[in-house]
Amino acid sequence: MSFESFRLQARLNSNVRGLGYHTPTPIQTQAIPPIQQGRDVMGLAQTGTGKTAAFALPILDRLMTGGRTGHVRALVIAPTRELAEQIHGDFADLGRETGLGGVTLYGGVGIEQQIKRLRAGADVVIACPGRLLDHIGRGTVQLAGVEVFVLDEADQMLDMGFLPGIREIIGCLPAKRQNLLFSATMPREMRRLAAEVLRDAVTVQVGDCEPVGTVSHCLYPVTQHLKTKLLMALLDQVETESVLVFTRTKHRARRVGEQLQKAGYKATSLQGNLSQNRRRAAMDGFRDGRHRILVATDIAARGIDVNRISHVINYDVPDTVTAYTHRIGRTGRAAKSGDALTLATQDDRAMIQSIERMLGGPIPRRNLEEFDYGECAPQRAPGPGLGRERGSRRGSGSGTSRSQERFHRTRGVPPGTSTRKHSRPGGASRASGPAGPGSGGVYTPVKERPITLSSHTGHAVGSKSGARFGNSGGRRGGRAVFPSRQRG
Ligand code: AMP
Repeated sequence: MSFESFRLQARLNSNVRGLGYHTPTPIQTQAIPPIQQGRDVMGLAQTGTGKTAAFALPILDRLMTGGRTGHVRALVIAPTRELAEQIHGDFADLGRETGLGGVTLYGGVGIEQQIKRLRAGADVVIACPGRLLDHIGRGTVQLAGVEVFVLDEADQMLDMGFLPGIREIIGCLPAKRQNLLFSATMPREMRRLAAEVLRDAVTVQVGDCEPVGTVSHCLYPVTQHLKTKLLMALLDQVETESVLVFTRTKHRARRVGEQLQKAGYKATSLQGNLSQNRRRAAMDGFRDGRHRILVATDIAARGIDVNRISHVINYDVPDTVTAYTHRIGRTGRAAKSGDALTLATQDDRAMIQSIERMLGGPIPRRNLEEFDYGECAPQRAPGPGLGRERGSRRGSGSGTSRSQERFHRTRGVPPGTSTRKHSRPGGASRASGPAGPGSGGVYTPVKERPITLSSHTGHAVGSKSGARFGNSGGRRGGRAVFPSRQRG
């Protein structure tokens, strides 16, 4: 199948070619035709499958044929500003020189610029729920003309507690509209939301909602106090390009990022406390290769679009299976292969089992050769944010703790099994290391404060050069124009 078979406007086909897309991805092949027919669509696809273009292309096509009304005609809701920015970038790339324009609304910056851009006229609004509700409350955005409503990464939005906000937004939309809902997973709550939002929907699905098939998964059993050392050993021994490291809390993201920097790694971190400028600098540095390693929380990493992430390392096992799916969706994008390495403590067993159920099989266990799993836990608790070792026993250094043995047995992997030899640049010889952690430290997870609607307010991405999908950076006919995306 080719993009021509969708019979999109010539300008859109030319933009698609310009981006180097030759063949539609499976989600595009399945979703574009029903969207073009005006049907509601439930798209089960994770990030990396080309789902943004799957809804952006038919929306742009519709907006081009319908003629401009001066009203917001398409509304896309995304869980985070990074994702909103990413979607905006895709609209800008695909909608170049169409004369259409869009505004992105999300939190963390002043609202005045956004109001100005909305006043100038936007065909598409891409928004996070909190700031959009602010605008609705102020009467600065009019949604009565919305023809297409998109909820992207809906499962993530439910995880983040956005359901009441989403319901409120839906209440402000015209009853007659097309609804497109995209989600990587389909938990029960999601089905309920789909039933509320969609009418006579076509369901399209790629990859059984499982993480992209191009990703290989493996697990490194470890005790909490050895995680940072193991992370560094992995970074030394595994051949990687760009590595995205996930931590459970923002404090830990910052701390691990700093520890890596101090140890000489080209690393940076991304977490909720950063100013917009520092966040952008971290992302740009990661994109252009100045930083090979980015340490981030789930929330901070949403929307990161770096095509050559070769490895995702779960420094902490995520809280939910959905979060695992989203994390590993960061690697193996657009049919490139990627590796997902997970550092797991004994306390992660239940979550690992859930992830394995979702993957449909066990994740291979690995021990890193030459790594000293027997190193004792520090006597005092490590610094803030790195977790606490409670009741940790001293490891023998020469063997495996009983509980660790149990961990291995329950997984059907004999203690001491080393399933992979990693190439080390220096070519140093290595003996097979001990079986696993030598102490039975207990990991006490520190919950990150969930983002609440009130703290999640919006900002216009096109703040530098406006809101038209075009190639100029100026204004035309009183309407702001979209900036061209800087690609890393
Ligand atoms: P998404 O799932 O929308 O985040 O897209 C993942 C990546 O795939 C993005 O960098 C897109 O630019 C890219 N992409 C989307 N559609 C295609 C296509 N048909 N061929 C090649 N790359 C694509």
